[in-house]
Amino acid sequence: MYEDAPTSVYYLPTSDSSRMQRHQLVSRAMGGGAAFLLVLAFFQYFVFTANVQPGVVDQETVWISVSINLALAALALTFFAVNTLARRFLDHWWEVFIGSMHVTTAITMLAWVAHIHIAGSQGTPLLVLIPGSTVVSMWLLGRGWAWFYFFFANLALAVVQGAEVMGYLEYFPLAGTGAAEHLEFLDVRYRIGNGFFYLLASIGPLVLVSQLFADLTRSQKAVVRANKRLEVLASTDSLTGLLIRRAVMPKFEEEIIRSDREKRPLSVIILDIDNFKSVNDTYGHAVGDQVIKEVADVLLHCFRTYDLVARIGGEEFMVVLPGNDLHAGYELAERARMQLRERVIDSEGHELSVTASFGVAEHAPGRRETVDQLILYADDAHYHAKRAGKDRVCMASAPEETTGMALA
Ligand code: GH3
Ligand code: MG
Ligand code: MG
Repeated sequence: MYEDAPTSVYYLPTSDSSRMQRHQLVSRAMGGGAAFLLVLAFFQYFVFTANVQPGVVDQETVWISVSINLALAALALTFFAVNTLARRFLDHWWEVFIGSMHVTTAITMLAWVAHIHIAGSQGTPLLVLIPGSTVVSMWLLGRGWAWFYFFFANLALAVVQGAEVMGYLEYFPLAGTGAAEHLEFLDVRYRIGNGFFYLLASIGPLVLVSQLFADLTRSQKAVVRANKRLEVLASTDSLTGLLIRRAVMPKFEEEIIRSDREKRPLSVIILDIDNFKSVNDTYGHAVGDQVIKEVADVLLHCFRTYDLVARIGGEEFMVVLPGNDLHAGYELAERARMQLRERVIDSEGHELSVTASFGVAEHAPGRRETVDQLILYADDAHYHAKRAGKDRVCMASAPEETTGMALA
């Protein structure tokens, strides 16, 4: 009866508008990042070239360092171009975006492992990069993927450092002969310590952000649950649990629109308990309330779950039957009438039974009429049933196109 709340991870974008927003933000950041890296590489070239210290920073080192920034700029630029074009020309632009996020995250993680290997522990940019890519991947791919890339990068780092410690790879190859001046780099303890340093630097922000997103998900779930409860409270009658008039009307209107679209008829029943005032007068209000509950129970069991059953007045009910024409509606009303009169109501030591009078009207697909008019036709038919002696079903007859329904 109520729309399902999203069951996936709540902070991840699920609606088109939030996806577009994140797509735009990240694509622009990538475009801006590419421009920044290009400018950086340009200045880096001149600054480093002017500071060449043979053996420590030679011209080859300068080129490698500049090339790394150019490669990262190319990566960001490719991301920007692919996603801008996909957004414009492809239906699956979101899948392209998520795919390029995976590729970019993996390359970024491997880039920082490579950076640690070839350039030593030049940590400052990495300490921005590691938490940054962690947050972005959490924000777009989810917590599971963020942790996956964290383990992926640290595994790669462990493999590379293991190879260095065992002598298969030269640590800090960029330093060349100058490494001799940095004796600590040759110390195994330094390299292991370095590995732990990066592990701690990346796990800290990951745990923090992961926790924040978990909190966010929890509170969003609580809000969704509370909204659902409020919606149920606001749309149902507390005595019977049936829909109230205000809640059933928009659903009824939707059914009429659906009936026109699918070219299927729809019927509506209005019923009112007979001589209910005397139930109240004879047995008291508590018994009267119990009778209303029992009538609701009969109606709920008599009709299908996708029929709309509502309490629209004190002892007045309405049932909307999609897919049923006037005669099918009549048969169903007749069945409900029989079930009601056969129901023995046991309340506060009294055994009693009640009857009701029913009116049925039909909406033929394509016929112009409002919900209010349809209810009026069914209501008139129910008054007709009352006047004809109660405990019966009356149909509103099929109308002339111009005059609306008349009583049968
Ligand atoms: P008829 O067969 O013509 O429908 O007669 P009736 O007595 O059922 O009709 P009437 O409209 O005169 O009386 C309806 C009564 O229903 C009046 C009102 O006090 C009572 N009623 C309305 N809502 C409730 C309710 O929630 N609980 C109880 N116990 N009584 C209610
Ligand atoms: Mg009544
Ligand atoms: Mg009444």
